[in-house]
Amino acid sequence: MSIISGNYLCGMKKCLLFLYLLLSAASVSAQPDTTQQVISGRQNSPRQQQKPYVILISADGFRYDYADKYNATTLKTLRAQGVEAESMLPSFPSKTFPNHYTIVTGMYPATHGLINNYFYDPNRKESYTLRDRDKVEDGSWYGGVPLWVLAEQQQMLTASYFWVGSEAPIQGVWPTYYYKYNEKTAFEDRVKTVVSWLKLPEEKRPHLITLYLSEVDYAGHVFGPNAPETAAAVHVLDENIRKLTEAVAATGLPVNYIFVSDHGMTEIDRDHTLPLPVAVDTAKFIVSGGEMVVELHAKNKRDIRPTYRRLKKEADGYRVYRKRNMPRHLHYGAKEDAYKRLGDILLLTEVPTVFNFSGRRPSPATHGFDPCTVKDMHATFYAWGPSFKKGIRIPSFRNTEVYPLVAELLGLRYTHKIDGTKKLVKEVLP
Ligand code: AMP
Ligand code: ZN
Ligand code: ZN
Repeated sequence: MSIISGNYLCGMKKCLLFLYLLLSAASVSAQPDTTQQVISGRQNSPRQQQKPYVILISADGFRYDYADKYNATTLKTLRAQGVEAESMLPSFPSKTFPNHYTIVTGMYPATHGLINNYFYDPNRKESYTLRDRDKVEDGSWYGGVPLWVLAEQQQMLTASYFWVGSEAPIQGVWPTYYYKYNEKTAFEDRVKTVVSWLKLPEEKRPHLITLYLSEVDYAGHVFGPNAPETAAAVHVLDENIRKLTEAVAATGLPVNYIFVSDHGMTEIDRDHTLPLPVAVDTAKFIVSGGEMVVELHAKNKRDIRPTYRRLKKEADGYRVYRKRNMPRHLHYGAKEDAYKRLGDILLLTEVPTVFNFSGRRPSPATHGFDPCTVKDMHATFYAWGPSFKKGIRIPSFRNTEVYPLVAELLGLRYTHKIDGTKKLVKEVLP
């Protein structure tokens, strides 16, 4: 009996062990890769070792007025020691991927190619989406020369604790140190790593560090920009910025900070959303985008004109454009469309109206609207550190201006054409 029960138990133990191994193997394969990726064999050139350091921080969805609205005391103190912009204008559409990539390339979304978080590429006949790791890590989707690529090409090391594009070899180049995106990584771990990078020997120490934080955007979408949960997310972020800046100050290095966001947040009318117009024949058009920007790609160019005319006649609650007559100030038309990824016909809504094709009730708040007409879309820009003017307030400017600023701070040359100018550089550097 005991043998039987022993065998039985033994069999059950084996079974449990097998189940445990199976489950842990499954959970391991489902876990994101949290290890630091390091490109070996690189060093700062002796010339670059003399340069200052830049930490470029992005708090996703940190609307231009959040620091004051929610009394973010650390950020208010830090910006008072350096530069505070009235706001920073995102590029259209005011979404995460296009704007993070604009900030690091100085180009409009249609020019650098990342026209939205999700989009269809008619030449490739496939879609890019931020949820598809293979696409996110495929450098062939990304145009322009991101700041870390510019730096590495000039023998200056860089590091990224997340940034759109940093996980892909763009022109064959990754940052020397980077991570695959995992929104669950605790802020404390990000801070520890940033500080550890600054403690590396000079030839291995990155001069440009990017840091990305998503919590404020998440709270804004789910609870709305006026909710106590969003206030709480701003306070947590503010406290973490305090910890980061204190730990970095202890290194004694000349570190410049640029604190930005990609866009703002506004409440939408989630009870009266727009369906796909009946004039759009999905046998003839590939429909991409949604919410405030719908792109229609004609399978046969002959179908553009009649559909455009019908949409113009029937449009109710949205505006209809052909790519070539998009409003100029959006910089999202045929002229900028370097990768031919914009739709042949575009349907745009205005706050608080959005298209919704999913059948699910949308979140109470979002972003993506025209930043020139919707102030709630405006982003944040604060900068402080040894290289900046002290205690100045500047008017709003476009986020294409950040690239020339970082290049100037780090003494990096570029000759390729971008959309940013040197105006911000002149305003904020002595
Ligand atoms: P949005 O809808 O424009 O606010 O998109 C924000 C989303 O982008 C958040 O859910 C982030 O977690 C996500 N995100 C930010 N950076 C990355 C990245 N490098 N890879 C994948 N997703 C990202
Ligand atoms: Zn965002
Ligand atoms: Zn968002």
